[in-house]
Amino acid sequence: MLRTDRVYVAGHRGMVGSAICRALARDGFENVVTRTHRELDLLDPVAVREFYAAEKPDVAIIAAARVGGIGANSAENAKFLYENEMIAMNTVWGAAEAGVRRLLFLGSTCIYPRMAPQPIPESALLTGELEKTNEGYALAKISGLKLCEFLRRDRGLLYHSLMPTNLYGPGDNYDIVHGHVLPTMIRKFETARVSNEPIVHLWGSGSPLREFLHVDDLASACLFVLGLDNPPDLVNAGTGREVTIRQLAEMIRAATGCRAEIDWDRAKPDGTPRKLCDTRLIRSLGWEPKIRLEDGIRRTIDEYRAELARGTIRL
Ligand code: GDP
Repeated sequence: MLRTDRVYVAGHRGMVGSAICRALARDGFENVVTRTHRELDLLDPVAVREFYAAEKPDVAIIAAARVGGIGANSAENAKFLYENEMIAMNTVWGAAEAGVRRLLFLGSTCIYPRMAPQPIPESALLTGELEKTNEGYALAKISGLKLCEFLRRDRGLLYHSLMPTNLYGPGDNYDIVHGHVLPTMIRKFETARVSNEPIVHLWGSGSPLREFLHVDDLASACLFVLGLDNPPDLVNAGTGREVTIRQLAEMIRAATGCRAEIDWDRAKPDGTPRKLCDTRLIRSLGWEPKIRLEDGIRRTIDEYRAELARGTIRL
């Protein structure tokens, strides 16, 4: 990818897309193309085709998706499958038809089987059953990455994919019911601290293990793989460090300064027991994360407080 390239970032208002836009701006890319959801409906294949024909980007980064935490996904697998499948097919196929030279498709490590070996290598793809709570999302992302792989093989297009582990950072969704665990915990502990509530209710047993990557590290991983002449079809991006949900809760409670007790609601799902990605491939190519979880959490809490004060938070 060259600094003079015209780069389309799909989903530039989301947490991932906005981090990628910040990284592109920092690296001197001045020709970045974006469209808001209102301007371009990525579920509409005709609109997407017309957009590509008019804008003719050289490179596309597909960071648009319907995302949500375990609550949102498990309640609406159909919607997560349909919308993400449409977004993937329209943005990737549309790019190929319009002659977009290079494309990076973003997914998530939930594409891997529930009982994949840990840490999960890229080779675990399609070797077993998926986790049921986010099966729709995972199936759509698998289709998208396969479409990139097929287009690269069939037509020689440099289309490839990157699968990040659980992400967090500025611009996250802080919805209590639909959000991911880390932002939701920040909101719950902050709310309890401010209003002096004695108990914070969290979900599941607290024993599942998760890995968390700051979105600015993810953005650097995206630009890194886009700079490779011969990138892998599929590469994981993570920190290689995991914590239990209980440890995460203790870290966030301490970082917010909240004193509330934690109540674990075991009627809520735990989801997959462990989800640590094998990051040897991307590290061997020369990328590594820079933001420690403790520092990232502190930064994110500061940004949450600032966003809340400004009234720009997504709740
Ligand atoms: P996942 O990583 O795809 O399973 O999705 P999440 O980011 O929603 O993380 C879910 C894990 O955090 C599960 O083990 C939940 O039981 C646990 N968890 C604990 N409290 C909460 C909470 O308040 N919200 C969410 N979304 N998950 C929670």
